[in-house]
Amino acid sequence: MDAPAPLIDPFARPITYLRVSVTDRCDFRCTYCMAEHMQFLPKKDLLTLEELDRLCSVFVRLGVRKLRVTGGEPLVRRNIMEFFRAMSRHLGQGLDELTLTTNGSQLARFAGELADCGVRRVNVSLDTLKDDRFARITRWGRLEQVMEGIAAATSAGLRVKINTVALKGFNEDELFPLLDWCATEGHDLTFIEVMPMGEMTEEQRLGQYWPLSDLNARIAERFSLTPLAERTGGPARYVRINETGQKVGFITPLTHNFCESCNRVRLTCTGELFMCLGQEDRADLRAALRASPSDADLSNAIREAITRKPKGHDFDYSRQHVSGQVSRYMSHTGG
Ligand code: SAM
Ligand code: SF4
Repeated sequence: MDAPAPLIDPFARPITYLRVSVTDRCDFRCTYCMAEHMQFLPKKDLLTLEELDRLCSVFVRLGVRKLRVTGGEPLVRRNIMEFFRAMSRHLGQGLDELTLTTNGSQLARFAGELADCGVRRVNVSLDTLKDDRFARITRWGRLEQVMEGIAAATSAGLRVKINTVALKGFNEDELFPLLDWCATEGHDLTFIEVMPMGEMTEEQRLGQYWPLSDLNARIAERFSLTPLAERTGGPARYVRINETGQKVGFITPLTHNFCESCNRVRLTCTGELFMCLGQEDRADLRAALRASPSDADLSNAIREAITRKPKGHDFDYSRQHVSGQVSRYMSHTGG
C-alpha cells in the first residue's frame, strides 16, 4: 500500500512530532503545575492503552517521527510499559524516536524496561538540588527518590536531560550549582520559562516569572557561550558553554519566534488533540476513535484537525499584566 500523504498544516509546516499525555494524574503536586487538591478525570474518560496505541500508530503512519510520552506523570499510569512496548514496534518503521518526560520518581523501577523498549533519552524535571526546596515546590515529592531514578536511568544507558523551571526567588541562587551538577553527571540542562497555565492570580504569576534572558546573561558573565544552530522545531534554543563543553537549553514559550517552525501537536489522555499549546482550539479524536473501527475515518479526523493548526500562540507577559493565559493545567495537555 502506498504511504499516505504526510500531515502538512496550512502554514506549510510538516507535523512530525506528537506529544502524548497518557494520564492527568501525578504523584507530585508542583505548585506551578497543579493545585494541591486536583480533581482528576474519571477513568472512563481516559483512552485505554489499546486506544492510545491505535491513535499513535495512525499518527506514525501519517508521518510522525518522534513520540514523546508525558502527562501528568506518565510512569504512574498502570501498565504503561505495555504502551511503550507496543510503540517500540514502530521504531525504525517510521518512528525515529520514542521518549518521555518524567518527574523521575518511578525511574528506578522502570529505567531498564524503558531502555529495552528502545527509549534512548529521557527528560527529567528537577528544579532544585536542595531537599527542603524540592519538597516545597513539588509538595509531595522526595528529592532522594528522584536522584535514585536519575542514577538508574544513567546505569540503564539512557541519556538524561534535566528540565528546570526558572522561578524567581526560588532557584535563582541554584543556577550555577545546577549547571555544575549537570556538567559533573554528564546531563544536558534546559531551563524553562514559567508559563501562565492553570488557576493563579496575575500577581502570583508575575511574581515567579524569571526571564531566561536574565539567566543567559548571568551565565555569559561567567563563561563564553557559543549559540548552537540546532533547532528542534520547538521553543528551545541552545548554547554551548565553551569552558565545559556543556549544552544548555532555554525554552521560552512566551516569545513568538519559534512558532513558524512548530512541527508538533499534543494529544491529551482523553483523546483531545491540541494543535497549539497556547490556544484553546482542539479536536475530539476520542469520538472519531470510538465511532468507527476504521483507521481511515480516524486519519481523516486527524487531517481535519491539522487544517486548524494556528500560526502561533498568544502568550505574552507584558510589563504590567499576563495576557493569553489559558485556564487548563499543564498536566492536561502534557508539558
Ligand atoms: N510529570 C512529568 C514531569 O514533571 O516532567 C511530565 C509532565 S510535566 C507537566 C512536563 C513539564 O512541564 C515539566 O518539566 C514541568 O516542569 C513543566 N511545567 C509544568 N507546569 C509548568 C508551567 N506553568 N510553566 C512552565 N513549565 C511547566
Ligand atoms: Fe506532576 Fe510533572 Fe506537573 Fe510536577 S510538573 S505536578 S511532576 S505533572
